Amino acid sequence: MALSHNLGFPRIGRDRELKKALEAHWRGELSEADLRSTGQQLRSAHWQLQKDAGIDLLPVGDFAWYDQVLTHSLMFGVIPERFRPHAGKPTLQTLFGMARGTVSKESTCCAGAHAQEMTKWFDTNYHYLVPEFTKNQQFALSWEQLFEEVNEAIALGHSVKPVVIGPLTYLWLGKAKGEAFNRLDLLESLLPVYGEVLQRLASLGVEWVQLDEPILSLDLPQEWKSAFERAYNLLQRDPLKKLVATYFAGLEDNLGLAASLPVDGLHIDLVRAPEQFPSILDRLPAYKVLSLGVVNGRNVWRTDLEKVLAILQQAQQRLGDRLWVAPSCSLLHSPVDLSREDRLDDELKGWLAFAVQKCEEVALLTLALNDPQNSKVQLALEKSRAIQASRDASTRIHKADVQARLAAVTAQDSQRRSAFAERIKVQREHLQLPLFPTTTIGSFPQTTAIRLARQSFKAGKLTEAEYTEAMYSEIRHAVEVQENLGLDVLVHGEAERNDMVEYFAEQLDGYAFTRFGWVQSYGSRCVKPAVIYGDLSRPRAMTVDWIRYAQSLTSKVMKGMLTGPVTMLMWSFPRDDISREQQARQLALAIRDEVMDLERAGIRIVQIDEAAFREGLPLRKAQWGEYLNWATEAFRLCASGVADETQIHTHMCYSEFNDVIESIAAMDADVITIETSRSDMELLDAFEAFDYPNEIGPGVYDIHSPRVPDAKDMAKLLRKAARRIPVQRLWVNPDCGLKTRGWPETEAALINMVVAAQTLRREFA
Ligand code: GLN
Ligand code: ZN
Repeated sequence: MALSHNLGFPRIGRDRELKKALEAHWRGELSEADLRSTGQQLRSAHWQLQKDAGIDLLPVGDFAWYDQVLTHSLMFGVIPERFRPHAGKPTLQTLFGMARGTVSKESTCCAGAHAQEMTKWFDTNYHYLVPEFTKNQQFALSWEQLFEEVNEAIALGHSVKPVVIGPLTYLWLGKAKGEAFNRLDLLESLLPVYGEVLQRLASLGVEWVQLDEPILSLDLPQEWKSAFERAYNLLQRDPLKKLVATYFAGLEDNLGLAASLPVDGLHIDLVRAPEQFPSILDRLPAYKVLSLGVVNGRNVWRTDLEKVLAILQQAQQRLGDRLWVAPSCSLLHSPVDLSREDRLDDELKGWLAFAVQKCEEVALLTLALNDPQNSKVQLALEKSRAIQASRDASTRIHKADVQARLAAVTAQDSQRRSAFAERIKVQREHLQLPLFPTTTIGSFPQTTAIRLARQSFKAGKLTEAEYTEAMYSEIRHAVEVQENLGLDVLVHGEAERNDMVEYFAEQLDGYAFTRFGWVQSYGSRCVKPAVIYGDLSRPRAMTVDWIRYAQSLTSKVMKGMLTGPVTMLMWSFPRDDISREQQARQLALAIRDEVMDLERAGIRIVQIDEAAFREGLPLRKAQWGEYLNWATEAFRLCASGVADETQIHTHMCYSEFNDVIESIAAMDADVITIETSRSDMELLDAFEAFDYPNEIGPGVYDIHSPRVPDAKDMAKLLRKAARRIPVQRLWVNPDCGLKTRGWPETEAALINMVVAAQTLRREFA
């Protein structure tokens, strides 16, 4: 019999119960006991949902109070010195301290300790807390959560499979702190703790454990590959059947390694890397279980059950009982339950599946293997066929005009009329800006008043005219402040925008919005990505009225502000029936229309933000080129319609540019503003080595901190930048938007920034 299992279920709760409980606890309004009981209720509800859906083997260990990697750090005793309790075991407060930092007014051991670093979990939008290793790192079993939760599930009568991050992936995710060393050297001392964990689990009556090793889908250095063999040869002596789980990309050159590890099963992601099938069947030793991840754990579409079943049946012929069926990866990356959605129309809702529905699909596929004649199976396959057919034929999805326009795009359309060297002359003439021009990244503080106005408008308590006036008044304020500060290129402040993607998505055709489609981003933070369901187009101008109004208030240059096609795509749930490239091109044309409308309205600078450009990079280097090609092309397509004198800016807020600098240059924006303040301008090395041809605004202060930066410090950073980049090409700006800051600190910081720019102007006059 084939078996169904799940790799992980979202822990946040279908009404974000965990988020609410955590935040109440942090505010001091919910006791630890009540928080714990919320966690327990969520776990038991989630196991029950999965069991009711028909999943045979349920995951345990997917619940976390903040982040599963952090839970592992506690389990292995990887607790940085600054958080280590004086005596006794770490507590939930230790965990939250590591996650969020501690404030200095607390009179505990770790007062004023900064949180552990957070970074993206592979290519998802989930963020984990980076383990901190020191050279003499000791490991010791220090956290009982996994065992307690296994007991909890067993007591509820469930068949469970604990989920543990494998030793190589855990080490890979961490960082060496203090004296330099190779963290792979820690493997030998880490493995005994894994041994203890497996012993403990065995003593609880567990049969299988899932060891997540997603790094097997990366380009691994040889020493890490060798370490896999070493580690698993040692783990082989420990009890329990082991399923090594890989996901997010194909195994490729690690396929042989993964298939031959001395464990009892292997999970692969057939959604992201379908080409691994059927070759995997020939590579897998005859004793091993193969778990096929066939239901997409990272998107919201119903699975084409017939198509997947054909693959599973082929696998079943070879594997018999050794075949397991699963989602492609943990459902942590899916929203929880589609049945919560009460405002989607039936047709669209019928096309979607969230975590609960995905479990039902996994169970159904398993049933289809084990009992093909079952009437439930026949019904589900019929329904799936109908859904696929309705999507294929839907005129809500497939729009002839969008497709015709896309087909008519020529190479010329993604090419500015003149080369940068030519058009910058015209722009300088047209804009008349000083050396070291000052500007900001777009947003100004999103005050409570702004949020209240938006809420009231949405609730129908403000008329459209009243809401517009409230926003106009914010714009007037922002323009006045900027004029008083003496900034050179002004912005309208983005008061009307809730979110830089959602704001545009709401105005494009082809996007849908859920009410409860939340996905955990980190800790208690969740995001609710919009869903691209059909061909995308812009029925009418989206920002022109606001920007035109802002420009009417000042004789200075007003910058129009848009979100770019790649970022729109990366921060949405994309369609699964056409490529990401095609969706990016549709978005590019829609945004291009807006760029052109802004130009027509007399706007001389348009900024197109591409905050997510770098995060779209595939995990495997071999696939980078293809992505970078279509991503830069999409940007150029949206930016290249304008005349030479219209200046195009882009903004990217991160610091690792070395890998992608040539593509950034290929985007051919006239000006790029980037984050550099936190890395002390080090990032500019990339721009120096490559000789980036266009203008650059390296962020001179970190907007993430409430600290008001010194004019002297900013001037110093600018001098540093001026050593690498010709001063005619340098801009002065903060390193990101200011929406999370308050007005007083914003004004104070910008006063100093203008002073710094003036200082540099004098020095280079
Ligand atoms: N224009 C946006 C802002 O200023 C850019 C935000 C971003 O890059 N994350 O908020
Ligand atoms: Zn930014």
